[in-house]
Amino acid sequence: MAFPIDKFKDIETPFYYYDKALLNETLDTINAEIGKHSNYHLHYAIKANANIDVLREIQKAGFGVDCVSGGEIQQALNAGFDAAKIVYAGVGKGDWEIRLGLDAGIFCFNVESLEELNIINELAAEKGKVAKVCFRINPNVGAHTHANITTGLAENKFGIAMEDMEKAIMAAAELQNVEFIGLHFHIGSQILEMDDFKALTARINKLQDNLDAKGIKVMNINVGGGLGIAYNDPDGKPVPDFKAYFKAYSDNLKLREGQQLHFELGRAVVGQMGSLITRVLYVKQAHVKKFVIVDAGMSDLIRPALYDAHHEIQNLSSDGPQETYDVVGPICESSDVFGKGETLPECHRGDIIALRSAGAYGEIMACQYNCRKLPKGYLF
Ligand SMILES: *Cc1c(COP(=O)(O)O)cnc(C)c1O
Repeated sequence: MAFPIDKFKDIETPFYYYDKALLNETLDTINAEIGKHSNYHLHYAIKANANIDVLREIQKAGFGVDCVSGGEIQQALNAGFDAAKIVYAGVGKGDWEIRLGLDAGIFCFNVESLEELNIINELAAEKGKVAKVCFRINPNVGAHTHANITTGLAENKFGIAMEDMEKAIMAAAELQNVEFIGLHFHIGSQILEMDDFKALTARINKLQDNLDAKGIKVMNINVGGGLGIAYNDPDGKPVPDFKAYFKAYSDNLKLREGQQLHFELGRAVVGQMGSLITRVLYVKQAHVKKFVIVDAGMSDLIRPALYDAHHEIQNLSSDGPQETYDVVGPICESSDVFGKGETLPECHRGDIIALRSAGAYGEIMACQYNCRKLPKGYLF
């Protein structure tokens, strides 16, 4: 990718750079795929990146939003998203968050326990409203990804067990202020094996057969998100393989007459368009290694420390001879490392470094540890 490096000179590092052209290419690709099916709906998972300028671009593409907190619902509304396209999941929805969703008139609550169903019913009754609910079902389907980001196993905290699904649907039918409208699933994140999504469709097909036999109608199926990106090849694969992803569902999921299919992609929408831009502070020759110390740290991009993630590292300022470095941040933690044994063109103080594929779960996960400033994000 050719970075607009001239424009970087006046911006205080570290910051996130979001490539507007790549974001729009990604959005167009998704729209071309879902446009083939009149009953497919995309809700962008806002937890991946809630930068207001990024959100406005996604809103213009016509997507809805998948939220996991009241703050996210508020941010989606601030960005101009239609409340009628907002879905809201989360194992621990607080009362104020449920009330916010009810007041805004969101499309549905993805309910994760029977106790939560009863609370939503009570809070909706107080307002004289009927809340539309889907049940988030834990499908007990594994995914080939990092253990910290699988969500669809029986051992994970998310969703209602398959065995309790019918009980939940029956319970909803007894309540006056909730309306059961569908089933929701989400098996994990950074999934690159289409067979994992296929396994989910097989599970849903089976559940639907059982429900059919009992005469229970389901209007909406929401299969969550989870499509991964090529962290090791941001230039070769800037746009994820949405064709294969949607095909895994269209070929394998047996939808019933009139059923609507919902998706909640986050990372795949915004991951590749973002880079964390940082400057070299010092190049330190230690006893056994050479360190490049940059001004970004794990407080700005926590994925390497949290998930053992690796982001491609590029020196945008140097074309000197290749050298081997550990690239580290300034924070007082030994896990504040972006890369070990990285081969980079010779680094000097002041060089601009890009940490690639950082558009998802980057800026939004930043914190102020060590009393640092939060990084800003710029879309252009
Ligand atoms: C995080 C999350 C998503 C999005 O996951 P990605 O891997 O970013 O696509 C979708 N649905 C739910 C319920 C989530 O929690």
